Amino acid sequence: MTARYFFAPQDTVGVPVVGSEKLYPVGRIFCVGRNYAEHAKEMGHEVDREAPFYFTKPASAIVASGGTIPYPPGTQNFHHEMEFVVALGGSAFRVAEAEAMGAVFGYACGLDLTRRDLQQAAKDKGRPWDLAKAFEHSAVISPITPASAFGAIGAQRIHLSVNGEIRQDSRLSDLIWSVPSLISHLSRYYHLQAGDLIYTGTPAGVGKLVAGDRLEGGINGLGPIALTIGPAE
Ligand code: MN
Repeated sequence: MTARYFFAPQDTVGVPVVGSEKLYPVGRIFCVGRNYAEHAKEMGHEVDREAPFYFTKPASAIVASGGTIPYPPGTQNFHHEMEFVVALGGSAFRVAEAEAMGAVFGYACGLDLTRRDLQQAAKDKGRPWDLAKAFEHSAVISPITPASAFGAIGAQRIHLSVNGEIRQDSRLSDLIWSVPSLISHLSRYYHLQAGDLIYTGTPAGVGKLVAGDRLEGGINGLGPIALTIGPAE
């Protein structure tokens, strides 16, 4: 084969889908900040009800549930954030809330892993969050459950334990910005496409992880998520 590229392109990241042999190919990863009032409070912020805000992670940050990741470099305060993930299966641009759910493929449990000390330093200096949020192994995801199998988003419980001790425990009904409102709002700024993931924010109870920690999380109606933190590289 004549090589078209100077070297092999980076791999497309695929996520398993419950009940299928096919993988869901990940495009972009959008993450919502401060989408549960109690979490905003624990981080020292008031809830801003004017508009949601976002940061992104690269698709290469995806880690399948059940694995072990190395404790990441450059941090002394590595945090877990358990989240409800929306996987898009259609496109959306300037979509109304009432039409937004038509773009949804399915849902998953996710962990938005965060270098909290670097995030605080970035906030203090008014700098971007990339070092704190968009790093390797920072977006853990369970297999995706098709939307039709999950049903309506309501008061499903969302929870995370570390070494068997419950750290985060809330309800999807506590989301400040609903899933259709997030899709509608994001679609005012992006041409959303199949493959785009939205990590919808974390409830209260975020906290520090150390090497050896074992995380187990769940959302009623979805397959569980698990992760082990290995030693630093
Ligand atoms: Mn988050």
